[in-house]
Amino acid sequence: MPDLQTRTAELRQLDDQYNIHPFCDGKELHERGATIIAKGSGSYVWDSDGNRILDGMAGLWCVNIGYGRDELADVASSQMRELPFYNMFFQSTTPAQISLAKRLAEITPEGLNHFFFANSGSEANDSIVRLVVHFWKTEGQPEKRLFIGRNLGYHGSTLAAVSLGGMKAMQALGHEVLPDFHHIPEPHHYVRGGDLSPEEFAKKAAAELETKIVELGAKNVAAFIAEPIQGAGGVIDPPPGYWPEIQRICRKHDVLLVVDEVICGFGRLGEWFGSQYYDVTPDIMPMAKGLSSGYLPISAVAFNERISEALRMGGTLTHGFTYSGHPVSCAVAEANIDIIERENLVPRTREEIAPYFRKVLQQIADAHPLVGELRGQGLLAAMQLMKDRDSKTFFEPSEPVAIDCRETALQKGLIFRAVGSAMVLCPPLVITRQEIDELADITAASLDATAKAYG
Ligand code: PLP
Repeated sequence: MPDLQTRTAELRQLDDQYNIHPFCDGKELHERGATIIAKGSGSYVWDSDGNRILDGMAGLWCVNIGYGRDELADVASSQMRELPFYNMFFQSTTPAQISLAKRLAEITPEGLNHFFFANSGSEANDSIVRLVVHFWKTEGQPEKRLFIGRNLGYHGSTLAAVSLGGMKAMQALGHEVLPDFHHIPEPHHYVRGGDLSPEEFAKKAAAELETKIVELGAKNVAAFIAEPIQGAGGVIDPPPGYWPEIQRICRKHDVLLVVDEVICGFGRLGEWFGSQYYDVTPDIMPMAKGLSSGYLPISAVAFNERISEALRMGGTLTHGFTYSGHPVSCAVAEANIDIIERENLVPRTREEIAPYFRKVLQQIADAHPLVGELRGQGLLAAMQLMKDRDSKTFFEPSEPVAIDCRETALQKGLIFRAVGSAMVLCPPLVITRQEIDELADITAASLDATAKAYG
């Protein structure tokens, strides 16, 4: 029904009448009306009134190759005609699924060559919880069943994924954190570093993991999970030295290291995976989003040899989803990986576009009194908005400064995300220098307007 696209008021009314939105205050939405995105091409989307908007969030941290790729539509169409569905249960699979697994093994870090497929990041992480407990049982260590995550970590919305994560508001919604799940503080130097240098703070923050492992008893701890850079928690990139120390501690205590690549995977930091950027070797690596650039739902978990051997040879694996390894999603994901490779999007991000993006944002952050810190790496960034950056005074949680800034930017044609009082950017990898200039102009103008309103 293409004519619907012009009928924004009617669409909003229908949306209000029928939808329950994820991560949304329904009362506020009822008053404001949904932003209805009707079309996309490259780094831009168009709303239902025809306004062109630069998508500074790549959808939901996922549209790495940009919108409007006919090639993926063609791949999906021919796979649907050939075989729209078959499953991986029992002793079956499909050519499209096998081909994607082989392709993934070529790009994932060494030693991660076996994959379990699911449909979302949450399902991938939920699967990890079940499969890791099963793994330790097969190893004769059934008491190893505790998981450690981080405050402000985000690993999804299922019961287990919320428990792995460290989002207080999410944990307050339904069940509290399930038993067996524990957390350590986030490695945010700007907030928690005090007088320590970034390197000193890195050691201190990593040591918090060892303290927690010892407190719980290493013989009881199954795994530690962390994002290379904490994304939904506000783009918290750890200080230099943090990741090697985390890896050392996990190895020392035989605690599995799970690096959640759902946002950082598929080129976001200028390497195929965030763990390569930080030079760590995960035992387990969940991935989603950029795996298909969001064109279809799909996720995968890569396991190292030790764990995959146990999962494959340790008896019947009573776990899986109808759509695990869905052939259409697999075909589209493989074509997406082909595009990332063919267009050199990973080296382009590393060598050209991310350095330009960071230079331009740094200039804004240095000059603007509202910005206390620019953080992130690659094409993942956050600007921390401060009430008074000189005295390092944060806005109160009740002051919606980032939300106001976001709404101003949207009016001016840029989507970014507000996390607490930070503005977060995660544009498609295909963004051009010219588009980055546009992003910067709107960002600076929106910061000016917000500073005036809060002045
Ligand atoms: N893990 C990370 C690091 C994420 O950022 C997200 C979603 O943003 C998830 C897991 C959950 O993925 P999904 O929303 O596909 O369930």
